[in-house]
Amino acid sequence: MKTISILGSTGSIGTQSLEVARKHNFKIKALAAYSNCELLAKQAREFHPEYVCIFKEELADKLHQLLDNGKTKDTVILTGMEGLTAIARLDGVDIMLNSVVGMVGLEPTLAAIEHGTDIALANKETLVAGGALVMKAAAEKGVNIYPVDSEHSAIFQCLQGNKRSQLNKILLTASGGPFFGRSKKELEGVTVDQALAHPNWSMGKKITIDSATLMNKGLEFIEAMWLFDLTPEQIEIVVHRESVIHSAVEYKDHSIIAQLGVPDMKIPIQYALLYPDRFDCPTKPLSLADLGTMTFARPDQDTFDCLTACIKAISLGGTMPAMVNGANEAAVAAFLDRKIQFLDIGRIVSSVIDRFVPEQVNSLEDVLNADRRARAFACEQIDKLSR
Ligand code: MG
Repeated sequence: MKTISILGSTGSIGTQSLEVARKHNFKIKALAAYSNCELLAKQAREFHPEYVCIFKEELADKLHQLLDNGKTKDTVILTGMEGLTAIARLDGVDIMLNSVVGMVGLEPTLAAIEHGTDIALANKETLVAGGALVMKAAAEKGVNIYPVDSEHSAIFQCLQGNKRSQLNKILLTASGGPFFGRSKKELEGVTVDQALAHPNWSMGKKITIDSATLMNKGLEFIEAMWLFDLTPEQIEIVVHRESVIHSAVEYKDHSIIAQLGVPDMKIPIQYALLYPDRFDCPTKPLSLADLGTMTFARPDQDTFDCLTACIKAISLGGTMPAMVNGANEAAVAAFLDRKIQFLDIGRIVSSVIDRFVPEQVNSLEDVLNADRRARAFACEQIDKLSR
């Protein structure tokens, strides 16, 4: 039986992680959510964590009432970034699952590493923005980072039992999102609802928009470079519409090893939490015969600016990936608020590369600064566009 903490427990990854936890009788040390008090309180009543954290401080009283803590006082309520980092520093946790959305995940990740706690990482922005800091700190502390992202879990699984030095490249698969095959012209005026309708995966809003713009694949490209110590040339993106092959690796002998399964995040979540064990998972098995065919294609980098911007950003290095990510977070929020058009997201993300020069990343402050500057620049453009 493992003891885990979950940051982002009310989101898509968080709720599925609790299904896995329920199945395998994990002990839950702490749960944290952004603003969904009702669900967090419900989870706390079922799993009895010692600590809960609601990121939005103004909701602490409401959570207190929902938990009926006036009478029982058995759960410590924390708030804000302080709460998240306090959870990351708790003793007696085998693994902390970080599934918060966005750059907010970086500080708790660094805090858990500092404390020596292994991490199941579902927050890709952590590595995109702070990869240099995170990987260096993890190596120094001997902390394991288990990928939860389905593609990176697949790559991690395909690397087991083989020599890392004999790897040629990885094949990062992409569903292509809801707008695969469309030209830029055809993407003018697509609505928020159209962008939120992903063909294969059911996910949170931010990542679903990122999948529609292919920003998600760009972020995953950067994430893979950090996790597996790769050069950009060692990553080939392959569009695979069925989302059954979750990624693959090619070795020197030209053997390709892939990981397959139904598109259900509980498989990579469970692998990260139970590594190296493989027990029954609360998902359907995959039937290849029922599936019949699998298709593959090259990504369209001319149409999807965000993907191109991410690859450029990591090639430039330093603070540039953090800036591209920060601009994207601001742009996606504005698109969801219906302030800008779908194609504006790609324009804003790309503009950061022309506007700024990358600087070296030596500290968390460098990353946070770069993020702030990029967001401010993105917000100026959003203001102009929404006028
Ligand atoms: Mg993914």
